[in-house]
Parts: sequence; C-alpha cells; structure tokens
Amino acid sequence: MVVADAFFDNSSFVAVVGGGPAGLLAAQRLAEAGRKVHVFEAQATVGRKFLVAGHGGFNLSNAEELARFASRYGAEAGRFADLLSHFSPAELRAWAADLGIATFVGTSGRIFPEAAHKPADLLRAWLTRLRELGVELHTRHRWLGFAGPTGIRLVDETDGPEAHREFVLEPAATVLALGGASWAKTGSNGAWVPILQELGVPVTAFAPANCGAEVAWSPFFQAKIGRAPLKNIGLRVNDGPAVRGEIMLTEYGLEGTPVYALTPQLRAALASGSPAVLHLNLKPDLPAPALLAKLQQRRPGASLPDFLRKSLNLAPQVPTLLREVQPNVAALDSAALAALLAAVPIVATGLRPLDEAISTAGGIAFAALDEHLMLRQRPGTFVAGEMLDWEAPTGGYLLQGCFSTGAWAAKGVLAWQAAR
Ligand SMILES: Cc1cc2nc3c(=O)[nH]c(=O)nc-3n(C[C@H](O)[C@H](O)[C@H](O)COP(=O)(O)OP(=O)(O)OC[C@H]3O[C@@H](n4cnc5c(N)ncnc54)[C@H](O)[C@@H]3O)c2cc1C
Repeated sequence: MVVADAFFDNSSFVAVVGGGPAGLLAAQRLAEAGRKVHVFEAQATVGRKFLVAGHGGFNLSNAEELARFASRYGAEAGRFADLLSHFSPAELRAWAADLGIATFVGTSGRIFPEAAHKPADLLRAWLTRLRELGVELHTRHRWLGFAGPTGIRLVDETDGPEAHREFVLEPAATVLALGGASWAKTGSNGAWVPILQELGVPVTAFAPANCGAEVAWSPFFQAKIGRAPLKNIGLRVNDGPAVRGEIMLTEYGLEGTPVYALTPQLRAALASGSPAVLHLNLKPDLPAPALLAKLQQRRPGASLPDFLRKSLNLAPQVPTLLREVQPNVAALDSAALAALLAAVPIVATGLRPLDEAISTAGGIAFAALDEHLMLRQRPGTFVAGEMLDWEAPTGGYLLQGCFSTGAWAAKGVLAWQAAR
C-alpha cells in the first residue's frame, strides 16, 4: 500500500469523503475559508441522490418559521434549532441564488428552484463554483476506513476493479458525509457502519423513513384496484395526530406524502407489537354531523357506490376499499357508515424496504459527537448529513438538514484548527 500520494500536499488539506449535498457544502465552506479541499467520492459522479431528489420535484427547503421548521426533526428538534441558525433556509436560498439558481416558495411553503432550472443545472453550477474555489473532486475514490490516529485509507478505482490502488492520506482534518442507507444504487449504502462501530462509535440501527406502508390486501382488492390515488385524505396512526394529503393505494399497501410523514409513528407501533392501524378520514373537511346528515338523505335501496360517488364526491375505488375493511358495509346504518368514512381502519403489516425509502432513520448517535459534530473517539474527524441519527419528513427538511450539518461541520473544522 502506498503511504500518501505525491499528488497531495500531505498536511495542509482537508479531506471531505462523500460527494452528496452535505459533503459538497462542507467542501465549499472550507474552501471559502481558504482551506485546500479534496473531495473523495466512491461513485463515478457526485450528487447522485441529490439528482434523484430532483425527479420528485426537488424540494430544497421550506419557508416555514424556524421554530416550527426545527420541530420537524422530532427528538432532535432542539439541536436542529441551533443547526438551522448556522445555515438557515434563507441562507440556502441565497446560496442557490449566488449560483444563479433562483428559487420560489410554493403554496405549501416548500422551496423549489424556478422551473427553468433543472436539478442538474444546480449541481453543474455548484461543481463549477467548487472548482473555481480550488476544490479537487476525486470520483471513483472509495474510503475504506481509518489509518492510525489521523489517516484515512482510500482506494482509487478509476481504472476499474482490476487496477485498484490503495493508499493512505494524512489530512489536516476529515469530514465524513457518506449518507444513509437507502437507494444504495446512488452510492449511500451504509457500508461505513462496521468501520465506525469498530472505533467504538455508537450507531443506531438503520430503519426506513419516508416510505410506504405494507398492507395485506386481499387478492381481489389487489387485482381490482392496482394503483389508485385518493385525494384530500386525513390520516393518523392509532390515536395519533392526523396529517392531510393525497395517498396512493398500491398492490402492496399505501404510499404518499401523508403516509411518509407517519413512518415514525408506524415504526413505533410496529416495534411495540401493537397493531399499527392507519385511519383514513375520507371527508376530512366535512364535520361529523354534516356527514351524517348527508348519509341520512340516501333513499332506501339506492346503490351505495353511486351515492358515495355522486353525493359525497368520493373516488370510485372507495366502495371497494370499504368492503375490504368492512365486508358488510352495505348493511351499515347511516351513523355506522359515517363513522367508517371518518376513520377507515387499515392495518399496516410493515414498512417498505429500506432501499426504497426516501431517507434513513438511525445512524451515528449524537452522543458520539461534540457540539461541532466531531467524533469524540477521533479528534479531527467530523460527520455530516444523513449518516447522523436524525429523521424528518419530506418537505425540504431532509436536504436542509444535510446542508445545515455540512455547513456546521465545516465551521467545526475551522474552529478545531484555530484552537490547535
Ligand atoms: C427518491 C428521493 C427523493 C428525495 N427528494 C427529496 C426532496 O425533494 N427534498 C429533500 O429535502 N430531500 C429529498 N431526498 C433526500 C435527500 O436526497 C437526501 O437526504 C440527501 O441526498 C442526503 O445527503 P447526504 O449528503 O447526507 O448523503 P448522500 O446524498 O447519500 O451522499 C453520500 C455520498 O457519499 C458517497 N459514499 C458513500 N460511501 C462512500 C465511501 N466509502 N467512499 C466514498 N464515497 C462514499 C455516496 O456515493 C454518495 O455520493 C430524496 C431522496 C430520495 C431517495
């Protein structure tokens, strides 16, 4: 194995490992502060998951006020209130504007790039800026672990697996931003976990976040419904708080933003062994007495599917859904039917697999880090992005969390160097 490489000035650079949004923002901030930065990325290109995020609307952040924004990080709300103050959604918009990418706030508060800007445009402009700042990107360079108290071990896979060349570097500091463990084909495969655990770093087990729920639909339901959207649904897990939005009935269960938002509650219910029941309110804007009054107008003998469609404006799939959970639905009186429409009980049997999830729960426990996201077991090594143990719903909170932790880890490097 080569010890270091003549290519690198072997003491005065910072290594950033992982070319996702967290790593690239850390690299930018460090280079702006005058540091020589080398970014090592295992894949042939950087920002693959960032571009995947772009397929679904490219929701960069959210314009809601900061206290509410921070509350989206659940158990880590307090920590993120602080992190967001170091790189806020407003700063994220200014950062994008500085790269020539104007953003706008959608009706839901979500922040997107203007339609004229494709995700690849933002990434291209960003990489150009990084190059201008002198950041060197080394793709097909995989981090293998640590070497001694301060070194990192890498393998250069540029010339294909046969020509692998391992080497060790001694950076002045290292930022690890290796991502979570979903969508492994984008490069975030969680392979770093045993390396960190060997060092004694506590890593909370990964679990899918922002993913679909599995339901044991009958073969009849699967064949008849396939995939179908249900718009304007209220949704809660057991007696928990309700969320609103459009869900998708699928062959394997339920998908959609409100389902994703409830994955922490679903995970908790499933882990406790109690049934995880999703209650669908099909008419969330209609108060219970008004719903009952409408149902009481139904003439005896009138077809229930026709009534639900014409008088309550419900989707054509609703009667099949009601029969699936309540086989004798046609015999229910108005009060029982009103109760059912306000809370259709659907038992979730599990969550979709981690690799399909939009994000990963679990990761490096914050207890393993100092206030600057530096590993206590390894001074000079900082961690950022989704490899940390936090989760948040979709809505721009994921990328914002990665950017904010990347910016803060970079400040941590600078503070640590200044204190030495
Ligand atoms: C389908 C989908 C849609 C999404 N939509 C949104 C959205 O609209 N809004 C939003 O806020 N978030 C969205 N996200 C989430 C967001 O993309 C992620 O939270 C974010 O990319 C995580 O950033 P990161 O830098 O922590 O990690 P990643 O983006 O996963 O980057 C980690 C990088 O590290 C590299 N790496 C891993 N191991 C090694 C190694 N050993 N050596 C060298 N390099 C390594 C990987 O190849 C990867 O490039 C979406 C995610 C998905 C999957």
